[in-house]
Amino acid sequence: ERDRLERLRGRPAVTMDGHRVELLANIELPGDTSAALAAGAEGVGLFRSEFLFMNRSGELPDEQEQYEAYRAAVQSMRGLPVTIRTIDIGADKPLDRMSAHDHTLNPALGLRAIRWSLADPDMFEGQLRAILRAAVHGPVRLLVPMISHPSEIRATLDAVERARGKLVAEGTPHGVVTLGAMIEVPAAALMLPRFLRHFDFVSIGTNDLIQYTLAIDRADEAVAHLYDPWHPAVLALIANTIRMAQAAGKGVSVCGEMAGDPDFTAVLLSFGLRSFSMHPTQLPRIKQRILRTDLAALDGLADRVLAADDPKQASLPAVRPAIIPV
Ligand code: PEP
Ligand code: MG
Repeated sequence: ERDRLERLRGRPAVTMDGHRVELLANIELPGDTSAALAAGAEGVGLFRSEFLFMNRSGELPDEQEQYEAYRAAVQSMRGLPVTIRTIDIGADKPLDRMSAHDHTLNPALGLRAIRWSLADPDMFEGQLRAILRAAVHGPVRLLVPMISHPSEIRATLDAVERARGKLVAEGTPHGVVTLGAMIEVPAAALMLPRFLRHFDFVSIGTNDLIQYTLAIDRADEAVAHLYDPWHPAVLALIANTIRMAQAAGKGVSVCGEMAGDPDFTAVLLSFGLRSFSMHPTQLPRIKQRILRTDLAALDGLADRVLAADDPKQASLPAVRPAIIPV
């Protein structure tokens, strides 16, 4: 088993009929890069930077501390791309110091992620500067969570330009980053062309896209049985996002849990997805799925799944292998 995983690690993810797929890792802290590399990840598709800010009772990490953390991640990935997501605090990821002041009734609909960053320009500038500075050490992609309004696209791009301008003016070393937006609110998926005009790539956050499309709190046990990644509306938003991004020649990846769930590998491939980002432990299983998939044989799967009342059923192979009793 160990040998098999070892052999699998160095092998690129290619379908039986030759379609190359990029497999990336989701990480929470710089130290997670060793698990990412051990699993054979070709880069970090999602560095959830809010984990640097969580579980701290005192000061939040300043620019220098963040820079050192991002640099450590970038250096340990040895030239592979690292996608650093700006802070996604709030809702299911509260700060320690927030709990005392947290009076919001619906935190998932409240001041979280990019809303939180734009409400605290000094904090946001420190983070953007840290990320731009870390890009001196290797390829960095800057990813912004939860954008759902055109004014947030503008404000975000302005903030990046301001941070860059100051680094230039000071002569502080910094690198070039590509800019991406998470597509995780239905409003974003429904105005995707605006994102594709302004960003280099998009990354689909299925965890939140499901929550916000279906109005199901992803952290509420009472409605967990209604949290359905197979819901036709969710699949339609994902398929459209992939198709439109590719038509525009922009990068598109899925970094929510669906990317690491083998039940969705064939469906996402049939939607055209060629970049998956997941928890490192899932990566070998997904790679195996891809190595055993003949994309040509999946012809029509996307249309069938998108038209079905029961997409999960429609995604299963038409002919089931007979179960031979032993
Ligand atoms: C998502 O929403 O799918 C996602 C990847 O982000 P997070 O789970 O950190 O909200
Ligand atoms: Mg999310």
